[in-house]
Amino acid sequence: MKKFIIHSVLIASVITMLPACESLNRDALQYKDASSVTALNASVETTPVSTSGDAADDPAIWVHPTDKSKSFVIGTNKKSGLAVYNLQGEQIQFLQHGLPNNVDIRQGMTLNGKPIDVGAFSDRADNTVGWIRIDETGIEFIDKFTVNTEPYGFCLAHFNNKLFAFVTYKTGLIEQYELREQKQSLDLVMTDSYQLSSQLEGCVADDKRNRLFVGEEEYGIWVFDGAADKLTQPLLIDKVGSNNGIVADIEGLTLFHSSAPLLIASSQGNDSFAVYEATPPYTFKSRFRVVANTQVDGAQETDGIDVTNTSLPGFPNGLFVAQDGFNDDGKQNFKLVPIDL
Ligand code: CA
Ligand code: CA
Ligand code: CA
Ligand code: CA
Ligand code: CA
Repeated sequence: MKKFIIHSVLIASVITMLPACESLNRDALQYKDASSVTALNASVETTPVSTSGDAADDPAIWVHPTDKSKSFVIGTNKKSGLAVYNLQGEQIQFLQHGLPNNVDIRQGMTLNGKPIDVGAFSDRADNTVGWIRIDETGIEFIDKFTVNTEPYGFCLAHFNNKLFAFVTYKTGLIEQYELREQKQSLDLVMTDSYQLSSQLEGCVADDKRNRLFVGEEEYGIWVFDGAADKLTQPLLIDKVGSNNGIVADIEGLTLFHSSAPLLIASSQGNDSFAVYEATPPYTFKSRFRVVANTQVDGAQETDGIDVTNTSLPGFPNGLFVAQDGFNDDGKQNFKLVPIDL
């Protein structure tokens, strides 16, 4: 009985400590660099993920080919599967499947002679790349292929009419795979690899210009030219700790397509996003933050991001999506931000 009382006292003291930890309001943080960083607001946030802790990770925007209001966002829950959210942020589908870390999509592809919008994701549950079919009804799992141990970052490329998948690893390894059509099936064949020095995650491909951008989390942002062929010595675009203000970890990378394409990188260590010209000499342009307004809290400690320049309802000049590591009213989620770059 005495033991029980002591135990209860301990529990009580732990509980009384909790509010102090939770009361750290990430949206009230004062950033020293605030005067040089643009502040944007999210207009929509998604349904929080169903699992606690660090769970939401990487979004991908699917644009409906004819009715833009039916476009949606696919988001990974790295503890349980892939969620689909409409442009109002409501979860409209959940595909329970493995431990998907990063996801990417390509629209208007052809597989086995048929038009298809495809997605693919790195799955740490069984060391595979999983593939999904996407249409206006949502997503459907179609196939998976084994890759190396712990596929972490992931992105797709459509180079020279072929679909490529790039997998990045915590070991600094990047693998290039090509999706090949067999008579009745698909095959994912490793075609090249490249070794960088430390943990990688975010990557994004510029299909038109044969380029692959990769984030080395604690080091900087790299670009591989001619990535459709061999992965040769990349060029360093920016380094953690540079005057441009990027702070480790470098996380999600995405491309804003326009006549002058832009690269956006999540600078996770200072809750900001750096913008670069996505063509040589990859000039740094600006940084922005997603801060709280009266409706939606800001995005902090962001992992994955995606952006489109397509005009969507509520997002006339484009939509930027950012994972939020600290959702003020629940578990992690994704923020939808009207953007004009
Ligand atoms: Ca995280
Ligand atoms: Ca990471
Ligand atoms: Ca991540
Ligand atoms: Ca937040
Ligand atoms: Ca919120």
